[in-house]
Amino acid sequence: MELSICYLYASGMNVYGDRGNVLTLVQRCRWRDIRVNVIERGVGETGSLEPCDIFVAGGGQDRDQVAVSRDLQGDTGRALAEAIQNDAVLLSICGTYQLFGHYFKTGSGETLPGIGIFDAWTVAGPRRFIGDAIVRCAVGGREIDLVGFENHSGQTFLGPGARPMGRTVVGAGNNGQDGQEGARYRNAFGCYLHGPLLPKNPEFADYLIKLALRRRYHDEIPLAPLDDTIEISARRAVVERIQRRGRVRAGVR
Ligand code: GLN
Repeated sequence: MELSICYLYASGMNVYGDRGNVLTLVQRCRWRDIRVNVIERGVGETGSLEPCDIFVAGGGQDRDQVAVSRDLQGDTGRALAEAIQNDAVLLSICGTYQLFGHYFKTGSGETLPGIGIFDAWTVAGPRRFIGDAIVRCAVGGREIDLVGFENHSGQTFLGPGARPMGRTVVGAGNNGQDGQEGARYRNAFGCYLHGPLLPKNPEFADYLIKLALRRRYHDEIPLAPLDDTIEISARRAVVERIQRRGRVRAGVR
């Protein structure tokens, strides 16, 4: 069995170690003898993205988003939008999540066009949301709590064509107002959770792998269990840090 991963805009969009999301997917596949091929696609690069099962993209500063926004209006954006319609898996964090919506209006009033994978738009707000976060989200019929770290001033709002990825237990989420975090459309996920997200949330990493295998092999492929002791203790450390600081608003699973 094999999967192909496309890591988008690695050089500009990789804050707080978002690259760790790619490393986690690769390693969890290899531990199960699933062969993984990773291609990187930067600004201005071309070539077919058809073989890609999973796309991963991280966050970055407003100034780096300018070039990415422009690049997405070309072949890469078109190929990505088509792949998502075809149920390819996407995990996008913060700066790229914003650009996979309709647009991001920056603090200086510039509107960076997105590609509308998510029915969502983002406007820079007056304050910056920074801190550990917990998000409750449905994963394969179960509710789990994802831990991560947010740092954004953009406030994202969802239209009727997108559903949130989850609800905030701790943290500001999409906009600090409606309790929603992230967006999901088909097998595409966008959220504000750095950390990086997947190393500390192995269940979610496996969910993405399962979605990709199901799409490629048209079948439910069971994943061999792994020893997640280290991953779970890393996750626990974040929860405990939040609890010490008294930021938990609701019970954490
Ligand atoms: N520049 C965006 C914001 O602050 C994205 C930040 C990020 O990707 N961490 O909203």
